[in-house]
Amino acid sequence: MRLVQARWFHRGRISPIRLIVVHSMEWVERATTAEECARMFATMNRQASAHACVDADSVVRCVRDQDTAWAAPGGNSDGLQLELAGFARQSRKEWLDAYGNAMLGQAAGVIAGWCRAHKIPVRKLTRAELRAGKRGITSHADISAVYRRTDHTDPGTSFPWDVLLGLVKDELGGKDDGRDDVDVPDWKRPLSWPPTTKGDDVRMWQRQMRKRGWKLDVDGWYSGADEEVCTAFQRDSKGLTPTGEVDERTWRAAWTAPIT
Ligand SMILES: [Zn+2]
Repeated sequence: MRLVQARWFHRGRISPIRLIVVHSMEWVERATTAEECARMFATMNRQASAHACVDADSVVRCVRDQDTAWAAPGGNSDGLQLELAGFARQSRKEWLDAYGNAMLGQAAGVIAGWCRAHKIPVRKLTRAELRAGKRGITSHADISAVYRRTDHTDPGTSFPWDVLLGLVKDELGGKDDGRDDVDVPDWKRPLSWPPTTKGDDVRMWQRQMRKRGWKLDVDGWYSGADEEVCTAFQRDSKGLTPTGEVDERTWRAAWTAPIT
């Protein structure tokens, strides 16, 4: 991935990353739009930047994840900023034309990588959730509405969130991969793991949880969304402490809890 370092940004973070903030560049859709936007961030006098710029055929990084970009006051310190080619005034149909579809595919790759790396659930936050400090995906418009420090409304009211988030889930292997439970070892074996763990044990736990009515993806990746499910499950279960970590007791309970 190319990095064209933006001129204006803070080195480091004062808060842990919890948000992915989606913007539209308000810039025409061309093959070179991401490159042009990145060049602008690298050279302009106006104090603004983003972590990545996306067009239909490329992604250009402008600020490293661990540094703070200046794009959405109120959501800068804990946000990752993504600039999409296009305009906030676009209709749904315009967002989903050939250029838009290709661009959303590129964007989904970036967002999936961020969700995975920073344990951000693939979920568009409501304004109430944003205000409450939840982790997830949001827009510049919602940052403006909640924190009242800018008046930007991008990426607009017709932005196809359903399509973008669907593509992100596909990237993350959101669908059950259909593997059977035949390889389940002795579930009484003490097993525990912290968040961000990956592997077949995670997959087995996810499948057990899903059987019990919990909504999560059977992808073998213990993401932020899984952590939330785990915490809720622990809260609902007698004798478990809501830690968000699958400890020995939580692991066993996933097999012994009633199937609803
Ligand atoms: Zn914006």
